[in-house]
Amino acid sequence: MASDTHPAPLPAVLPDTLQRRGLMLILSSPSGAGKTTIARRLLAEDDEVAMSVSATTRPIRPGERDGTDYHFVSEAEFDRMVQENEFFEWARVFGHCYGTPKAEIRAGLKVGRDYLFDIDWQGTQQLHQKAQADVVRVFILPPSLEELHRRLVGRQTDSPDVIAARMARAQAEISHWDGYDYVVINDDVETCFTKVREILEAERMRRTRQTGLIDFVRELTRGA
Ligand code: ADP
Ligand code: 5GP
Repeated sequence: MASDTHPAPLPAVLPDTLQRRGLMLILSSPSGAGKTTIARRLLAEDDEVAMSVSATTRPIRPGERDGTDYHFVSEAEFDRMVQENEFFEWARVFGHCYGTPKAEIRAGLKVGRDYLFDIDWQGTQQLHQKAQADVVRVFILPPSLEELHRRLVGRQTDSPDVIAARMARAQAEISHWDGYDYVVINDDVETCFTKVREILEAERMRRTRQTGLIDFVRELTRGA
């Protein structure tokens, strides 16, 4: 049989090890809908995902670690970072500054690391404006307001006043659902987690993120 009828030899790089660019996965929801639950599972079960670590000027709390929970910086250092355009976005919250530093994330994205962001709709808008091609926005909805209330009570982290304030804000937050690429209703937690996983897997497969494809296809079709 003529050699040109044989398939080309298998390329050295297999498709599941192809180089890819990472992505920025944003999870937003009204407080209590379950984004922390979903985020923790993703971080525990997927080695390629890391939490984005913000910089802040607020004092470190007992149990927190610099570089893991936040990068704790002085006001002067934070100002310098703002001046030198080192943040994707930043905001002043309860008298302290918080920002998402660009450098670490940009370096990680290049080598295929995905970053998880637990931010509200305003932060989502800013991040999307700055890094549209890398951002995937997921909004998590509760199945009902009654169930949202049950979850906030069941979590046992907030006083009745704080729960009432969170419930009062919930409707305003929900009204921003249409600024997201995906909306998932967190009724059953397993089903919701699976759906978020599937979104992540599908987004990783986008052609534009699979930076190793050019070499792979070149090799695949070499001598064809
Ligand atoms: P958020 O981070 O959005 O404020 P959490 O992840 O802290 O919400 O979830 C709020 C509470 O609801 C937690 O006690 C969590 O265990 C619980 N919870 C999350 N998802 C579900 C679900 N699908 N069904 C029942 N309880 C849930
Ligand atoms: P805490 O001080 O309790 O950790 O956070 C206070 C608030 O700051 C939370 O609402 C949190 O979402 C917000 N925050 C934390 N990091 C950032 C960030 O990088 N950017 C913005 N805009 N807000 C942040």
